[in-house]
Amino acid sequence: MVSSKSYDLVIVGGGIIGCATAMLVKRTLPASTRIALVEKEHEVGYHQSGRNSGVVHMGLYYKPNSLKAKLCLEGALEAFSYFKANGIPYKKCGKLVIAVKDGELSKLDDLYKNSLQNSVPEVRVLENVQEIKKIEPNCEGVSAIYSPHTSIVDWKVVTKSFELSFLKTGGETFKNFELTALNKFSSFNEKFPIVLKSKSGQTIKSRYVLTCCGLYSDRIAKLSGSSSDPKIVPVRGEYLSLPLHVAKDLVSANIYPVPDPKFPFLGVHFTPRMDGSIWLGPNAVLASHREGYSYCDVNLQDTLEMLSYPGFQKLATNYTFKGLDELASSLFINRQIKNLQQYVPKLPASQVTRISAGVRAQALNRDGSLVDDFVFDSDAVGSNQQCRILHVRNAPSPGATSSLAIAKYLFAKMKTSFVDLV
Ligand SMILES: Cc1cc2nc3c(=O)[nH]c(=O)nc-3n(C[C@H](O)[C@H](O)[C@H](O)COP(=O)(O)OP(=O)(O)OC[C@H]3O[C@@H](n4cnc5c(N)ncnc54)[C@H](O)[C@@H]3O)c2cc1C
Repeated sequence: MVSSKSYDLVIVGGGIIGCATAMLVKRTLPASTRIALVEKEHEVGYHQSGRNSGVVHMGLYYKPNSLKAKLCLEGALEAFSYFKANGIPYKKCGKLVIAVKDGELSKLDDLYKNSLQNSVPEVRVLENVQEIKKIEPNCEGVSAIYSPHTSIVDWKVVTKSFELSFLKTGGETFKNFELTALNKFSSFNEKFPIVLKSKSGQTIKSRYVLTCCGLYSDRIAKLSGSSSDPKIVPVRGEYLSLPLHVAKDLVSANIYPVPDPKFPFLGVHFTPRMDGSIWLGPNAVLASHREGYSYCDVNLQDTLEMLSYPGFQKLATNYTFKGLDELASSLFINRQIKNLQQYVPKLPASQVTRISAGVRAQALNRDGSLVDDFVFDSDAVGSNQQCRILHVRNAPSPGATSSLAIAKYLFAKMKTSFVDLV
């Protein structure tokens, strides 16, 4: 039972971003700084951080000079050093983005130019099918972009390793602590002006708070008086799988389609897994529960909140066709398999099985536009109000890849915003 313990900093949310930041801040500040991490589940990495494609992205897609472009590459390089130093298994299997028809070539060229602007290491164009086959003998296509440093890892293992490092340096973790209230007292002589309450009635006091709550980032930010915009819309990404004996001779790199720039996701792809199997996916279907990992998971509050949000109504109108298309491919997986066979004709439909899913926290503006970049904000509304709470509002893919760079970015923000923490 946690009973009114007091900390200098409490981090809410034990996903990869909360754990990376907890580890970095605890390691950097004086040992006497008391830091706690609270997580509503029984373990860290239970949601997005433990249910994703496991790719270490190198930053091909992101808008040049955006936070995503900067923090993805920086985060990937930091992640590789961390994996080596901490014995975390990963594979540098590379990635191909393949155009299968001439009509896709100009989009592929734009993507290549974008990846050069983002300084993706050693990225190059494969001009024809022969060049593609030198890398992936079972792939077809008219041209491709090859990123040799794109890798795979199990991000849940990484999240748990961050938590362990945090604990080893004297940090404390409270599991099964679901934050339901965040009260701030403005009295100057209040040493710990923030009181965090959990659903089961536990309380913790703190001088400063950072929230990294993924699928609930909007609701948690609202608890501290921040705007409820952007709103989180849950978008499920379902995976199919190929067994080891088929996977081992099929492809060894990540194989992606040329993305549709109007759509925020990368398209269903082949992702080799650390256990030697291959995952196909993820697709993108609307979920009716923020933690809705299957069609059976329905939550009335989540559904009503989403349907009544003006931004969602505009989004639904703009993406009706795409949404129905994704739904049809989710229900009838042969559509997805046929699509994937354009890239790898030998993909054996009879060996494909449905497996797990993840749910993306897709941030959405009131005007219906999708929030693309990482977004951070704070509880400080007026310029003379002291900032006590920082929020991670939007950390979609490549959030796992970027986690160590996001942690550095957040620490720099703490140094300027949390006046007497550092
Ligand atoms: C299908 C899918 C595929 C992806 N593929 C990749 C990929 O290949 N590479 C990549 O880099 N990124 C990928 N991503 C993105 C990546 O997984 C996320 O960017 C990253 O995990 C975000 O981490 P997070 O810590 O912000 O969120 P989360 O991992 O969701 O963590 C948030 C945590 O907050 C906790 N929490 C929420 N509310 C409360 C509360 N009230 N009290 C206490 N705790 C609370 C939750 O339980 C959760 O543990 C993918 C995501 C998905 C869904």
